[in-house]
Amino acid sequence: MKSYRDNATSRLIRKIHFPKNENGRTLKISEYYAENVFDFKKALGIPESVKKEMQEISLTGKLLLKEHAEMIAHAVSEWALNKGATHFCHWFQPLTGNSAEKHDSFLNFIYKNGEILPLDKLTASQLLCGGPDASSFPSGGARSTFEARGYTVWDMSSPMFITEGINGKVLCIPTAFAAPNGAALDIKTPLLRSISKISDEATRFLNLIGFPEVKHVTVNSGAEQEYFLVDKAYYNLRPDLVMCGRTLFGSLTAKNQQLEDHYFGNVNDRVLAFMQELDYELYRLGIPSKTRHNEVAPGQFEMAPFYSEANLSSDQNQLVMVIIKKIAERHDFKALLHEKPFSKINGSGKHVNWSLSDDQGNNLLELNTDANYSNSNSISEDKSSKRFLALIAIIVEAVNRHAEVLRMSVASAGNDHRLGANEAPPSIISVFLGDTLSDIFKSIANGTTSHSKNGNVNNNHNGNGNRILNLGAKQLTQLLIDNTDRNRTSPFAFTGNRFEFRAVGSSAPIGFPLSILNAAVIDVLVDSNCFIENHLTKGFSVDDAIEALISRWFKNSEKVVFNGDGYSDEWKLEAARRGLPNLINSTEAIEVLSNECKTNFLIKHGIYRADELNTRYNVLMERYHMQLKIEFATLISMVNQHVLPSVINYKLKLSKFITSLDKIYDGDKSYQTDCDNLYVKSMLQKLNNKSQSLFSKTNKLNNLIKELSLSNNHSAHTNNAINNKEITSTLLPLSQEISLLCNDLEELVAAEHWYLPKYYDMLFLS
Ligand code: ADP
Ligand code: MG
Repeated sequence: MKSYRDNATSRLIRKIHFPKNENGRTLKISEYYAENVFDFKKALGIPESVKKEMQEISLTGKLLLKEHAEMIAHAVSEWALNKGATHFCHWFQPLTGNSAEKHDSFLNFIYKNGEILPLDKLTASQLLCGGPDASSFPSGGARSTFEARGYTVWDMSSPMFITEGINGKVLCIPTAFAAPNGAALDIKTPLLRSISKISDEATRFLNLIGFPEVKHVTVNSGAEQEYFLVDKAYYNLRPDLVMCGRTLFGSLTAKNQQLEDHYFGNVNDRVLAFMQELDYELYRLGIPSKTRHNEVAPGQFEMAPFYSEANLSSDQNQLVMVIIKKIAERHDFKALLHEKPFSKINGSGKHVNWSLSDDQGNNLLELNTDANYSNSNSISEDKSSKRFLALIAIIVEAVNRHAEVLRMSVASAGNDHRLGANEAPPSIISVFLGDTLSDIFKSIANGTTSHSKNGNVNNNHNGNGNRILNLGAKQLTQLLIDNTDRNRTSPFAFTGNRFEFRAVGSSAPIGFPLSILNAAVIDVLVDSNCFIENHLTKGFSVDDAIEALISRWFKNSEKVVFNGDGYSDEWKLEAARRGLPNLINSTEAIEVLSNECKTNFLIKHGIYRADELNTRYNVLMERYHMQLKIEFATLISMVNQHVLPSVINYKLKLSKFITSLDKIYDGDKSYQTDCDNLYVKSMLQKLNNKSQSLFSKTNKLNNLIKELSLSNNHSAHTNNAINNKEITSTLLPLSQEISLLCNDLEELVAAEHWYLPKYYDMLFLS
């Protein structure tokens, strides 16, 4: 009989036929890049003036005239229909964390010469606004079922695109999703608010410090996406993978990632074929996939795109997750985006790279050397290095001030297994700046001379005793070389021209943490603008005002800067000594959302409304509880349906063996000490002990879960508190004990009697 292992190991590698030109040459990426994306700039039938208006709108959020919307609706539907699309959908991101779509056909009817005729059409109102039944999307109690409507509104800043199924194509219109009272029910709306507000405040800041030409600031982001691939045959036989996205137990193989031979290793042919098809599909959707490689754990991989504007990057990362899963299926893999599919092996994260740039073409987090300015004399080296240092100081203060809310923004049941698990950044939020930048800030804050590690001396005093900032860009670039030597253990690291927020989970939408990070920076930018204005009014020079600002923020935030090993136990002690918050699990982190003092800045700057925060608190908490309930129930079911039956069957085999020996040696005294008999009896004994213990612990868990759902007669908040306490202090440790017993039993039971695919199968045999 063919086993699941035979299925998995005898897969044919899927070959795809890349498109060719008329000479039979395979097309270059640039020749099919973004072929499924609607580019209004190139569209036929839209006047240049409307194209210009569209461009402006995507930056300013102004309203589009109805007749212009009509033109765009016509152009985009012609484009999509010509490509074979039959349907369109408003594509949005509800609080489930996934993207959502409801398809409508282009079919319409017109009345002509007394006849009703069918035609394919997208109207302006269909393009602009949709009203899906929102009652089944999580709203955290924001609406009741009778007022179930939600509205999707076209987001003009993110381009429309076509997705393909085997039997047809759909035009997707990126939209925001809100309740009738205007409350955002999605990830995108607050992100858009934060992007627009950060542009206003950062532009104001730059204008104040000597860059009057700047009119707009863009948030950029690039999300590195990690994932695992497991053969479908193994996946389908693991109820925990199907139900929870992660294995709830599994005995570790002798070799896993100790030798680090998988990281950047040679990609196996079947996986490479998958990656090639993945990239092909991403390119057609205008998603600029740049790197692909093996990750640290066996079976783990990564893709990273070129960075782009944050709203687009967030939309595209949602698509990347969907497409990874879809292409994996075609190759008989299942892609696991869970943060911790296999325990004791590296989990998956999403490094969210983040930076700000201005409309003059400058990355504001990058030092501009002479080379960048050889064609421009509008800015001096010194001026740009001050801008750079001021913005870094602002961002560090933002993280310092709002560390708990940032920690909340990455909280999920899945990420709890990863944060602080000695392979991912700890749950303590700190900033890595590198020694040089830290030294520079220290010296500015103290008004002293600093000696950087490479021996350079930064003299921060002039002859009159006034502090000056005398670091030219060239010199700073030299000093900053150490930032390319990344500290992988930091949750928030400066890596030379951007910050990397590394605590984000691999399955999480990046839009939520991005909105919080932006809001934190906005909060400090607003204060910085007041600070600079006050100083200028009092007669300070711009230089002195900037220096005072850097000094102020750095003194405040020095405690959050940590350049050492974030995985070490010493750091936990040191962080506690510094008074940094350490919200170890999701329940503690999500509670931050119900603390008005901590979240007030989100409301004050118009990024979230109070009711929206309440919604998110309820949704996050509810999802956390549901996720764990599903995990507990799946664990119980797997113990009863798989683990214990395997053990019983194997025990039966051993007992039969002992009985048959008994028969053979009937009456033979020496047999009582026969070693065969003894070790088999001892195996049986071990199996008995472990399985009895497993049985009783599983029963206990089952009873406790029932009690958990009984306590619904309290208010939601009290109920959460009771449930959280029970979950973290009793249920999770108990389920952990059950998992360990399952692992022990897996080691004791002969492989042919163990019905579930093992880590050995899933990580090494596909
Ligand atoms: P590493 O794994 O060494 O961090 P990768 O090349 O895997 O590097 O990923 C780097 C990510 O950072 C890419 O997505 C890249 O586009 C993004 N990135 C690079 N520069 C910036 C920037 N200025 N702003 C935002 N993201 C950036
Ligand atoms: Mg990175």
